[in-house]
Parts: sequence; structure tokens; C-alpha cells
Amino acid sequence: MANQTPKQTPMMRQYWEIKSRYPDKDTILFFRLGDFYEMFFEDAEIASRILDIALTSRNKSDDNPVPLCGIPYHAADNYISKLLASGKKVAICEQVEDPAEAKGIVRRDVIRVITPGTITEPDNLEATRYNYLAAIHPLKGKWGLAVIDVTTGDFRVTEFDRLHDLLDELSRLEASELLISRSLAEEEDFAQEIKGVVRTVIDDPTFDPTKINDLKRVKGVKIPDSARAAAGAILHYVEYTAKEVLKHIHGIEVYETRRYMVVDESTQRNLELTKTMIDASRYGSLLWLMDQTLTPMGARLLRDWILHPLVETEPIAKRLDAVQTLVGDIMLCEDLGHMLERISDLERAAGRIAMETANARELVALKQSLKILPGLIKIQRDPTGLLKDILKGIDPLDDIDIMIEATLNDEPPLSLREGGLIKQGIDAELDELRTISGEGKGFIAKLEASEKAKTGISSLKVRYNKVFGYYIDVTNTHKDKVPPHYIRKQTLANSERYITDELKGFEEKVLGAEEKIKAMEFQIFSKLRSQLVEHVSRIKKTATRVAELDVLLSLAELARRNRYVRPEMTDSTEIEISEGRHPIIEKIHTGDRFIPNDSFLNNTTDRLLIITGPNMAGKSTVMRQVALIVLMAQIGSFVPATKAKIGIVDRIFTRVGASDNIMRGQSTFMVEMQEAASILKEATERSLIIIDEIGRGTSTFDGLAIAWAVAEYIHDTIQSKTLFATHYHELTDLEVTKESVKNYNIAVKEWNDKIIFLHKIVPGGVSHSYGIQVAQLAGLPKAVIERSREILANLETGELDEVGQPKLAYSKAERKEQIDVNQLQLFHQAGDHPVIEELKAANVEVMTPIEALNLLHKLKSEA
Ligand code: ATP
Repeated sequence: MANQTPKQTPMMRQYWEIKSRYPDKDTILFFRLGDFYEMFFEDAEIASRILDIALTSRNKSDDNPVPLCGIPYHAADNYISKLLASGKKVAICEQVEDPAEAKGIVRRDVIRVITPGTITEPDNLEATRYNYLAAIHPLKGKWGLAVIDVTTGDFRVTEFDRLHDLLDELSRLEASELLISRSLAEEEDFAQEIKGVVRTVIDDPTFDPTKINDLKRVKGVKIPDSARAAAGAILHYVEYTAKEVLKHIHGIEVYETRRYMVVDESTQRNLELTKTMIDASRYGSLLWLMDQTLTPMGARLLRDWILHPLVETEPIAKRLDAVQTLVGDIMLCEDLGHMLERISDLERAAGRIAMETANARELVALKQSLKILPGLIKIQRDPTGLLKDILKGIDPLDDIDIMIEATLNDEPPLSLREGGLIKQGIDAELDELRTISGEGKGFIAKLEASEKAKTGISSLKVRYNKVFGYYIDVTNTHKDKVPPHYIRKQTLANSERYITDELKGFEEKVLGAEEKIKAMEFQIFSKLRSQLVEHVSRIKKTATRVAELDVLLSLAELARRNRYVRPEMTDSTEIEISEGRHPIIEKIHTGDRFIPNDSFLNNTTDRLLIITGPNMAGKSTVMRQVALIVLMAQIGSFVPATKAKIGIVDRIFTRVGASDNIMRGQSTFMVEMQEAASILKEATERSLIIIDEIGRGTSTFDGLAIAWAVAEYIHDTIQSKTLFATHYHELTDLEVTKESVKNYNIAVKEWNDKIIFLHKIVPGGVSHSYGIQVAQLAGLPKAVIERSREILANLETGELDEVGQPKLAYSKAERKEQIDVNQLQLFHQAGDHPVIEELKAANVEVMTPIEALNLLHKLKSEA
């Protein structure tokens, strides 16, 4: 930061005094000057770059010009969003006294610091995502986590034995901002672990375990000490940013992550739960598919359910029962849908009431939503189970509806200070002021007519502007007819403006009344809003119930539209899926052409399934579909299959394809190995593991060795149910030696140099990758394809040259005894495909893989 200049104006002295209280280099100070927020010095340089606005300077002629940029105050939200998105925070410094009453320079102070985790303006928030502020704190070998959604006051804490588990939970929460203490931030290892998360480093003493005693409802709640300190930091920080104690944070909920399936960061990413791997878009993710919700709070809750599937049969069954009831009752769903779509964001409205930032339009929207509630409660005659619990838990909140209805106009303006908010009949004084103002306005209209008549100036107008108040406008043509008692105020090109004593007398009365009306309306509105603060927790509870109902209806709609079935949930270790489909591929890519597949896994005979097959056959699809079906079932959703029996899993692990974690500065292979390491360390015999290729980021032999050893370790030691796709066909040998391994492949047909994808998973392994055919399909130049074939043939014969090197580079001509493998018509699972019948009819020799291999060996030895 540039230093103070020696010759400072009083205003710059004030600026520096305030700025020095916000030394964090990421905090930009918005300094209010008239209708602008100005930024100075380094703040101006940074902000002008981010916001793409002009950087100018004050005191240009001076030796010490002050870099400066500014934005109009009424458009601030948009600029604030941009700064937050670039990892900045914004301290809003306002004039805190009336300039008219100021002696000397107007007093200014920071009224709020806006940070990614503490935004509350609806325009800056995503409606379908919670906006969490989190804090973590290590204490005596444990890790405390506290999270708050400032907009709703939802405040939760939990504790972990290992940092690793805490980080997994953090990634599920997708916290917008994470608070850590200065001493923790200085620990090198730790800093490495949380690279990529938006962090705010705060002073150690703010991790103060006693701070939460300020809350109303914490007595008797057993909160682990580490979490208590983290929660203290959150409260300190929220107060620091809001500059006040937030009244809607009443208590803390202690939650246990053990009640949920662990969905770690890799799995979230690999299964594309909330965004796709390719472009991080919502379209194409599981959330995109499943989200049929009608309210913002429903959308947020669904996201939470997807990232926190359950692990106990009973609560899952409760959800499934409710979904089943809804699936079976279209009328009920329609009625429910009509009601829910008219309910606005109750949860965030509650938060904004509590923070006393809600405007009149938000309260009217709240009122309109509340009118739906009494009908919603009675929507089902004899509800049972979860639906009954939810409907019973909805408070009709009619008293709040009445309060708002009685006070506020149905279409109030956005501004709270310009009047137009309050109904007639609420306050006698207000009504009287309105009469005066109304009469005044009537007088002015009459005055125009009478002055016209008196002066004979037909174009005479009585008008109003902010500078002069009411005035009489006379065009130059009629200037000579103006009576002497008119007092000239302003000369324009074509007309003159006048006032009269009479006009000013009425003006005083009218404007005085209007000012008073505006002030009174604001006062009445504020009183109503602070009365509502007391009811915030009731609104919030009801909002949660409505959200649950919305999510269940969304699950039912999803099931009905896509022909899903109810999964049978068990505590056994078996997973049996009949005609399972990949819920997203069938929706986006294939439609009805999706080929369903059966899957069976257990912990004894069919525990490790090795899946081979050419590129593009559908290995990834079938594996992900198993994982997604299990996950959906544990959320309480119906699933894309004709039948599914799901033994509940404690975690789903995934290692999929190549992904560089550039943000964290790790190579593809490193990420791959870290994912594998985490699986091997964390998985239990109740877990489900999906490994889609391993060891591909290094040399073939290293890769194969690693893949083999990992498969063996999973089989022998961890014993989790596993789907393991690989292009290392060698791994299919494991079936011979390991009792719980089963080989599968995805059937394809080869026809001359082409392949036909059947996308059907069948027992048995393959010995062929068809990589070259796929490369050909992809349009690699013919010369490259032909050369690959030569090299492949050389590789497959495994010949060495005179110095013991493989004869890889030999050309076809150089290899006299070349066996043209492509002459063979190699068919997997031959027999049932129409192409085969055609070939047989044409007398083409058809053989099974084993026959083909035998022939190959024979030819080789003869050669
Ligand atoms: P690679 O080894 O190259 O990763 P893969 O065997 O994993 O390939 P997938 O990515 O699963 O292949 O599938 C490739 C494409 O084939 C999918 O994007 C989809 O369009 C189609 N596909 C896969 N399975 C099916 C199916 N069961 N029915 C219809 N189309 C399918």
C-alpha cells in the first residue's frame, strides 16, 4: 500500500484512518463520496483491473498523484459480485452523519464488510446453492468444523478424527469461504492440503470457545471443544463483517457425518454429482437430472441430499415410501406442484427479515407464499409416514400473513424511503398527511387552470423539479403577458420559469407533508419488520418442511418421467440390478437406444469384477451406472432399472480417467495415484469401489504392475465390492487364481477392420483392445493407422532383433513371416448377432476367441 503523503487533506486523513483498520490486502475499501464509491491507491489499481473501469488520479498536477477509480453507488451490487468472484472482499464505508449537520468533514465509517461467505443480497447469491462460511480448528488431535449459512442462520458443527475426513466434508459443503487461524495457515503441510479453497486467515484469539455462549439456545448442547472454537471464530467473523450481532443465529446443531455415506471430492467429481468433469457445467450432472424442484429451498436441499446419501435402511425406506405414495397419485402430485410453485424463498426471506435487510416487496412475496400454507397442510386426507411428519410440521403462519397483509400495499416500490409502502387506515396521522398532500396536488392542478384564465396564456404550465420545486413555465412568445407578481427564477432558451408566493405556500405544505409521509412509512415498515424478527425461527422451520416436500415431489416426478423403479434396500452385502441404465447417458445421448445391463456383486463369489473390452464399448458407462444407481437409492430415489436390490454401502470410491488438478499443482499420474492411495487406505468391506483404468499415466510395465497389485490388494485385503475396468487384459488371469474375481467384457463385433459396439456386458475377458479401430473411427490419418497395425503386429509376436531389442519398428516388408492378424475374423460372444448369420450364409469362417487364439499360435509356431 502506498504511504500517506505529507500534505494530506482532511478527507484523505479520514480515508487512511479507516483504511488502516482493514489491513487485509484482499479487502477493497469502497469510500462513499456523494453518489459514488471511490477507491484509492492500490485498491484503485486492483479494482480498476478486475472491474475493467478507468483508473484516474486526484491531484494530477501534484508530485504525489492519488490513483483513483469509482463506481456509482446504486450499481454497486454488480461490481461487488465481480470483486468477490476474484477472491476479494469489500468494506463499504458510508457517510454516517447528515452532511447538513456535519461540523467540518462528514463522519464516515465502515458499515459492512462483504465477503464470499457472508453475502446476503439475493442478486449476489445462487438461489439453488447454500452459501456456507466455514471455520476449522485443530485441538488435541481432533479437527473441529463449524459452518453457517448467513442468509438462513443455519449453524452446524461437527468434529473429525482426521483432517482428511474434514476436507471431504468441506468439499461436499462447497463452502464459499473458509476461516483458519494465522498459526494454522503458517503450517506448511496444512497449507498444501487446503490449496484451492478460498481461505480467510484470522487471528488466533477469535477461535474463542466461549463466544458461542452469546447464543440463545446453546445451553445443554454437547459441543466438542474443537468445534466450539471454530464456531466462536464464525461468530466473531460474522459480527466483524455485519458490524452487528445477527439476531437470526439462535443456536447450533451438532451433526454427525457418520449418518451419511461418505462422498469424497474425487467421487463427487468423477460421478459428476453436481457438475460435469469436462466443463464444470450443471447440465449433464446428476443434480441437473434429478432437480425437478419448484422452490429455491427445495433445490438447495436436493443438492444437500445428493451429497449426503444415507446409510441406514430405515430413513431411506421412509423417503422411498413417500416417493412411492407420490408416484402412485398423479392428482396429488399435480395439486402439490401447483402449490409449491407459488411459494417463494421462505428460508432466505427469514434470514433477511432477521438481518433487517428485507424490503417491502420481499415481505409481500412472503405473505403471498404464506397464503398457500393452510391449503398445503390439508393436501392429503390421511397422510402417513414421512409425508405426515412433514405436513404436520408446517406452521400455517397465518398470523404473519395477517400482519403483513394489514400493513403493506400489495405492490410496494423497491425503495423503502420513497413512500408508497403502507396501506390506508393504519395510522391516523399518516392518513391526515396524505389528505394534505393530496389536496395540495389538487390545488396545483387547479392553479394551472386559473392562472391560464387570469393571464390568457394558454400554454402556461405548472411543473415541478428537484432544484426549484414547483414553478410556472411560460414560453417566450407570451413573456409580455406575465403579471408583475410573478417572480422570475430561471431563463431557458424558449421559456422563462416563475414562482409566486401562493405557489410556494402550497408547495411548503405539500412537500413538507410528503417528506413526513415518507419518514412515517419507513418507520411503520421498520416496526413491522422488527416484529417479524421474533417469528423468524417459525418461518425457517416451515421453510425446511416445504423444502423436504418439494424434494420428495421432485424425486417422484423424476421416477415417473423416466420409468424408474423402487429399489429394495437391504443390510445384506449384495447388489443386484436388472436392466440397469445410466440415468444421464440415456437422457442426453442415447434415448431409447440405451442398452440396459444387469449387474451382480456380493462380498463372496462376485466381489471383484474385472471389466475388459475395447475403447468406447461402454465400460465406464456400466460402472458409473452401478455407482449412480446405488447412490440414488441411498438418497431415497427410485432408480433406472427394472429391478434393484441394494445392500447398503458405506462409501463409494471412484478412480476415473485422467484429470489434472492444476489448481493444486499436481500431475495427472500423481492425482491418479493419490486417488488410488486414498481408496486403499479408506475403503472397507462395505464400500463400493469403481476403478476405471489405473496405471495409464506411466509406462506400460509400471502401469500394469501397479494395476495388478492394486487389484490383488483390493481382493485380498480390503475386500470391497469392486468394478475394475482395464485395458490390461493380463488382469483377467486373476479370475483363475482369486476366488472372488469374475471377468466381464463388453461385447463388440468385429467386421473386417470395423467394430460394432453392442454395449452389452457379458461374462469372460477379452484379449484385444481394438484401440487402432477406434483411432481409425476417430479419423487418424490412414498412414498412421497402417503403421500402428505394423507395430502392433510386431509387438504381438514379441520378436527381438539381434541386439535383443523388440523389432517394433520393422515395416511389413521387413517382416517376411508377418502373420496378418487382420485376416482373422475374431468374434467375441459369437453366435447371437445378426451379422454372424449373414457371414455364415456367405461362407465366411467364424470362430470364437479361443479358436482364433489357437489358430494364431499354430500359425506362429509354423512360421
Ligand atoms: P474407453 O475405454 O475409451 O474409456 P469405455 O468402454 O469406457 O471407453 P464408455 O465411455 O463407457 O466406453 O462409452 C462410450 C459411449 O458409448 C458412451 O458415451 C455412450 O454414448 C455409448 N454407450 C455406452 N454404453 C451404452 C449403452 N449401454 N447403451 C447405449 N450406448 C452406450
